[in-house]
Amino acid sequence: MISCPCGGGSYPECCKPVIANPSSADTPEQIMRSRYTAYVRRDLKHLLTTWHPDTAPERCDLAASLADGTVWQGLTVHCASHTGTSGRVEFTAHYLTPAGGGALRENSRFVKEADRWLYLDGKHQ
Ligand SMILES: [Zn+2]
Repeated sequence: MISCPCGGGSYPECCKPVIANPSSADTPEQIMRSRYTAYVRRDLKHLLTTWHPDTAPERCDLAASLADGTVWQGLTVHCASHTGTSGRVEFTAHYLTPAGGGALRENSRFVKEADRWLYLDGKHQ
């Protein structure tokens, strides 16, 4: 079994189908997990595809942030919910940088537009 970087089971059954077709995600949590996996794999295209155009960074800025040497080491989803076209996912992502390790806890907001869940923004905690 190829385990998924997000920790959600086997990669072919977890984030792979969402990365192949983001509109196949039924919940914001699936998009959030696939975005974590995209950070692990430096998948610029998937991050931009699933980012709301109003809040998405410039492509070159995002590319620079993906090249900063951060190694993502694990994901914990604390809670996830959605009603109608808005959703929330609270998670902690563990990382290692050349300066040391740490954890990022974020409460992310998602919106559904044209039948696709998109990452809107997140508050760090
Ligand atoms: Zn996954």
